[in-house]
Amino acid sequence: MNVLVINAGSSSLKYQLFEMDTESILAKGVCERIGAEGHMKHTPVSNGKPVFESDVPLPTHAEAINAVIEKLTSAEYGVIGSLSEIKAVGHRIVHGGPKFTESVLINEDVIKAIEECTLLAPLHTPANLTGIEACTKVMPGVPQVAVFDTAFHHTIPEYAFIYPIPYKYYVDNDIRRYGFHGTSHRYVSSKAAELLGKNASGTRIITCHLGNGSSLAAVKDGVCIDTSMGVTPLEGVPMGTRSGSVDPSIVDLISTIEGGLSLNDTMDVLNKKSGVLGVSGVSSDFRDLENAKLEGNARAELALDIFNYQVAKIIGSYIAVMGGADAIVFTAGIGENGPNTRRGICNFLNGLGICIDEVKNDVRGEFREITGAGSKARVFVIPTDEELVIARDTNLIVGVTL
Ligand code: ADP
Repeated sequence: MNVLVINAGSSSLKYQLFEMDTESILAKGVCERIGAEGHMKHTPVSNGKPVFESDVPLPTHAEAINAVIEKLTSAEYGVIGSLSEIKAVGHRIVHGGPKFTESVLINEDVIKAIEECTLLAPLHTPANLTGIEACTKVMPGVPQVAVFDTAFHHTIPEYAFIYPIPYKYYVDNDIRRYGFHGTSHRYVSSKAAELLGKNASGTRIITCHLGNGSSLAAVKDGVCIDTSMGVTPLEGVPMGTRSGSVDPSIVDLISTIEGGLSLNDTMDVLNKKSGVLGVSGVSSDFRDLENAKLEGNARAELALDIFNYQVAKIIGSYIAVMGGADAIVFTAGIGENGPNTRRGICNFLNGLGICIDEVKNDVRGEFREITGAGSKARVFVIPTDEELVIARDTNLIVGVTL
């Protein structure tokens, strides 16, 4: 069975087509600048066919899905004979609100419930829904499954997910910690449990998904008990352009300092102009920051130090509440490819008896155990695969339903 995985953003749509018997990728690609000039890159993976990359008109997501189907089935770039070879579509849905605790088959009720999450994720939810609508239009009758970034975190206890603000905002408006990157935390924590040679029960694993957006999760006995992102993906550690957790009064202060900047624009400062970009003034990309640091840029160095320190502080807090940790996992763009960041974070944890092996730590983009001699927790680099998790959930749910 072939499963198409879709990750629809406001102006982009990423896709991967999986063959599920072997869990192999047949093709993948991205449609960008949807609604503007339109650009597409399509890479056939399973055969020797050429990569397609060009500007193509993509006025809406439906045209983007059409373009994807056309490329997947074309003589020149295709990997399947016809649309009928796609048995199901799995969608990455960023916010599942309080209702969705696991992946579900999409129907009218599910779409309505996802719509209700718009207040919680005003940018992502409409884009995700547009992806579902486009698939319904272009591939009518093909079952679709929603896989939520928030679902893995639904096991977090009340005392960790309720904010100390008036309780009515939780009861009436669903304002609480949800957490994100759930498919990634779920995937790498279960891999780590396997590597520990144990059933999930009895394990204490801290997963660090460090990319443009970064979050950590504390996973005890195979279930998530805390995570660093909150009601939105702005909370937690500093990120590429997001501030992470700051004193909330800073919102008011920035607005006042900037001559009565609107709430929207002030939030833009925290979402788009802060994080390591805001501190360094150089870039949101850790490669640029490391190069700038090597050239003696003190603020780039400071931005990297702030990031490492805040990540280490969260890890330390999870070690405290879990009564220790058996494994710490680094994943995503920076976690997988940033030896200096991993070293910087673990150096702050030396006092807790955690250390990494300098030689083993020199690894990028592949699995490796990097635990140092005598370390109290094992440390792993585990490449994440959110698309595979989405494809597996979709395959499972559609397989049971058909
Ligand atoms: P997203 O959250 O957009 O999925 P990624 O997980 O792809 O992000 O992570 C992107 C980040 O990974 C960028 O900040 C980039 O700096 C970082 N990164 C990628 N390769 C390297 C590298 N070789 N060294 C350090 N950082 C890297």
